[in-house]
Amino acid sequence: MKLYSIDTGYFKLDGGAMFGVVPKSIWQRLNPPDENNLCSWALRCLLIEDGDRLILIDNGMGNKQDAKFFGHYHLHGSETLDGSLEKHGFHRDDVTDVLLTHLHFDHCGGSIERSSQGMLVPAFRNAVYWSNPRHWKWATEPNEREKASFLKENILPIEQSGQLRMVEVASETTFTGNISIRFVNGHTDAMMIPHINYNGKVVVFMADLLPSVGHIPIPYVMAYDMFPLTTLQEKKDFLQNALDNQYILFFEHDPAYECCSLQLTEKGIRGGPGFLLSDI
Ligand SMILES: [Zn+2]
Repeated sequence: MKLYSIDTGYFKLDGGAMFGVVPKSIWQRLNPPDENNLCSWALRCLLIEDGDRLILIDNGMGNKQDAKFFGHYHLHGSETLDGSLEKHGFHRDDVTDVLLTHLHFDHCGGSIERSSQGMLVPAFRNAVYWSNPRHWKWATEPNEREKASFLKENILPIEQSGQLRMVEVASETTFTGNISIRFVNGHTDAMMIPHINYNGKVVVFMADLLPSVGHIPIPYVMAYDMFPLTTLQEKKDFLQNALDNQYILFFEHDPAYECCSLQLTEKGIRGGPGFLLSDI
């Protein structure tokens, strides 16, 4: 089994929205904003070579939206999904499974591309795509507050292609012998947090439970979260468990750090020094 970090570039989001109730005088030190208060965030995915399966967790924003959309989100950086796969000797056609933690556009936008005839088609033609029944319903019948994050063109063609499969929602679901999935509900309903057994350690794909190292302190909850008090409790439970078991946290959105482990300080549980997935 092997793990590879797959960088698909960076995008920008409002720093205030990303740090919720935390004042700018504090968060601006964690991720310095530009003149419009926007901060750069990574779109970092995880590729898992597990026996004869090649599993990609999330796939960034994709590139099929129009200039107006990208004008809001400022996709930048030289890394691309295809380039990052190629760096490790893979092609998107090699991917057997695409596991979507949730269906917000910055996590699943790369799932569907526009064909030369202008059709919306799966970007991973040999893969099955995994969601779960609760989140699928939540995303396809969206509430007004979250609607702008669930783009129909990213989601519906997956089902229409016949390549959609569902993970069972339980307190802990086995995905493969080496990968289990836990569910959290504060950021959005039934977001999947993959836990991967790797070289005697557990690597956790944090998705939007902890988008960056700066989000480890308990009150640092994104304004985007649907149920912030649920996130608060889920963070507390996760961080204690992760500290006790020395989990390695893999960050999807941290612009600088791929991974860190946790340490107990006088202020509470905090991230230790950052490191690369390839260092494990
Ligand atoms: Zn999200």
